[in-house]
Amino acid sequence: MSEIKSTHLIHHPYQAPKEFESPQAPLFKASTVIFPNVKAMKDRRWQNKSAYTYGLHGTPSTFTLEEKLATLEGGRYCTLMPSGLSALAHVNLAFLISGDHVLVPDNAYSPNISLLKHVMSNYDITFTRYDPMSIADFKAKLSKRTRLVWLEAAGSVTMEFPDVLGLCEATQAHNAVYAQEDRRPSLIALDNTWGAGLAFDAFKTGVDMTVHALTKYPSGGGDVLMGSVVCKDQGIAQELCNAHMFLGTGVGPHDVDAILKGLQSMVLRYEAQDKAARILAQALMQEDAVAEVLHPALPHARGHAHWRAVCVTPQRPEGLAAGIFSVVFKPEYSVAQVEAFCDRLKLFKIGYSWGGPMSLVLPYDITSMREFAAEHLRNRQVVRFCIGLEDTQDLLDDLRQSLKALGSARKL
Ligand SMILES: *Cc1c(COP(=O)(O)O)cnc(C)c1O
Repeated sequence: MSEIKSTHLIHHPYQAPKEFESPQAPLFKASTVIFPNVKAMKDRRWQNKSAYTYGLHGTPSTFTLEEKLATLEGGRYCTLMPSGLSALAHVNLAFLISGDHVLVPDNAYSPNISLLKHVMSNYDITFTRYDPMSIADFKAKLSKRTRLVWLEAAGSVTMEFPDVLGLCEATQAHNAVYAQEDRRPSLIALDNTWGAGLAFDAFKTGVDMTVHALTKYPSGGGDVLMGSVVCKDQGIAQELCNAHMFLGTGVGPHDVDAILKGLQSMVLRYEAQDKAARILAQALMQEDAVAEVLHPALPHARGHAHWRAVCVTPQRPEGLAAGIFSVVFKPEYSVAQVEAFCDRLKLFKIGYSWGGPMSLVLPYDITSMREFAAEHLRNRQVVRFCIGLEDTQDLLDDLRQSLKALGSARKL
């Protein structure tokens, strides 16, 4: 090794002893990957992820995370993206070509709809919103040109749980009708952020791909953005992998490290937040100011039977659900009153996202967001609560003090 300091500081002859072991996997960082010789550089292929070539093509750290997520969601292949939204975008960009049509549920994560409306439309790709609670509406909108079907369970903010099995069956029947023709089949992509790979087994319902905003439960900290796409089919995986390389949407090593750490406690956090959310949702149902609580595990909820069909098992008769729900205020409460209710909360902070340690609250103007806003939502104030890891009684007390000022805390 050179005696010159500048050279010595760059090259690193020290090798960590092989027997070193610690609870956390080592973190591998690279844009440049070093090859032992020119032949190795020429021989290695990034396409099948069997070797390391360049940071963007993967490191042992990204491959470790991909493997864990594929296993978590019951798939085989995984691709990582810098955010949940970029993972949704990735599916649109990887599979759609000019002339294609997309079906998206009316209660989808709304930036996905914005992407279809404002960006994909520039490439002659059209989309239709469907009523997620009506198989008939869905079937009527499937067309010969439909290349991609989006599902979300439960739907964003209003939490309706669709008939995932029925929607997949309808898509497969549709594909079978056109199987003889030279037509690319409709692919089914599920936004699986709510279920997180824990509440139900998405690939058993018939979907082709799952998208997961790792920003939520896998991170668990409210401090990292990342997304993934998981699939089972090798051909689909290859298209996702190719598009990933062409678009260059790699993820940073420290973020990968944070998600790997978050995953270790995710099952415990998911279960604890589910339990706390159900206690709070049930307490809020008793409130005078509240017209309805939107949570798929509540017996009156829209899609409760569909939730039961996939999220309740003999081993888990109480089922699993994300720690998130919304409240519809009675029509006599004004926008200003409901916004003041949110402002008065002390533990619930006003902020986007969920699955983190801190409870969050956000008011929504549902009427402006939906094409199919059902009667119970029209012109009502809807507030979404994301339950963190604080003490449940403290959260209840916080809701109570703010509802009291609204003039309705009597029963909490
Ligand atoms: C948050 C979220 C996303 C987007 O994730 P980001 O990492 O914030 O881009 C996508 N889908 C659902 C259902 C989400 O809740």
